[in-house]
Amino acid sequence: MITRRKTRQIRVGDIPIGGGAPIAVQSMTNTDTADTERTIAQIGQLAAAGCDLIRVAVPDLEAAAAIAKIRAGITIPLIADIHFDWRLAVVAMENGAQGIRINPGNIGGAKKLAKVVTAARVHRVPIRVGVNSGSIEKDLLRRYGYPTPDNPTALIESAVRNVRLVENLGFEELKISIKSSDVLTTIAGYRLLAERTDYPLHIGVTEAGGLIAGTVKSSVALGILLFEGIGDTLRISLTRDPVEEVRVGYELLRALRIRERGPELISCPTCGRTRIDLFPLAEAVEQHLQTMRSRLKVAVMGCVVNGPGEAREADIGIAGGNGVGIIFKKGKIIKKVPEERLLEVFLDELRKMEEESSSSSSSS
Ligand code: SF4
Repeated sequence: MITRRKTRQIRVGDIPIGGGAPIAVQSMTNTDTADTERTIAQIGQLAAAGCDLIRVAVPDLEAAAAIAKIRAGITIPLIADIHFDWRLAVVAMENGAQGIRINPGNIGGAKKLAKVVTAARVHRVPIRVGVNSGSIEKDLLRRYGYPTPDNPTALIESAVRNVRLVENLGFEELKISIKSSDVLTTIAGYRLLAERTDYPLHIGVTEAGGLIAGTVKSSVALGILLFEGIGDTLRISLTRDPVEEVRVGYELLRALRIRERGPELISCPTCGRTRIDLFPLAEAVEQHLQTMRSRLKVAVMGCVVNGPGEAREADIGIAGGNGVGIIFKKGKIIKKVPEERLLEVFLDELRKMEEESSSSSSSS
């Protein structure tokens, strides 16, 4: 049983962060922010995949000004990601950004930071104080050394220092992130930070890599932290379509039984008993499940010998035979279908179950 760390609560738009709120799944667009049409389209895909909060890069004034138009075309809260230039933060908020991510130490000095914080107060926008291993101040690196799993102190001290800069301006609508591309440093760093503060934490491994490496690294680091109750919002960072980041984020939360969304797929790896072309079938079923909302457990198994038994806890499933497929519900066989019609018949059954489960949940 996971006991969440107690934190204050902030709000990004209508999404609460921390203070016992569901862990919010974030992603970041990889379109040119100023290209509002493509950015809105990508945010639409991310929202459909369950993304709770979206961050966009704001590298220039054109991108900051584009936020107004983007906001008008999307349904989830938008966070502006800004480096170095305080004006971009102010313009982003004037144009409707509902959160900003900055590193207060590199936004242009105390006076400029004060202007950013004033705008955040006026527009009721929370700030993510984000530091990473590459942005640590030189004096902290000299004193504590480059962050390592055994000694992540410089990262934490940098975060605490940057948080103080904002707190000293009387502003406390904050969440914090300390990003490292190293899994063990990420774990050690957030553990230490969680002891030092009660602000909500945004967790993630930065520059984690492609789909496989990035998923493994993020799942190890974030899985351990979440299991210890640390983390209030997360991003899985992948060199990939950001929709995959959201899917991985939910799978991670589902694996820990923290938060579930949509159906769960159980599928076997196939073995010498398999007499059916299972991989494309499993892939087609997985694609279809992305469109479903109900919490069904769906199994795609390679053989009838072990399939239904191994997937006994599934609500509905397929077990492959020799050129045929068996469709089973709750461990009981309901149909035997030739392989070429299996997908079509199975998807029909899935749709029926989805309808049944949505009508039973709407009548309860
Ligand atoms: S379900 Fe059947 S085909 Fe799949 S791995 Fe198990 S024994 Fe092999």
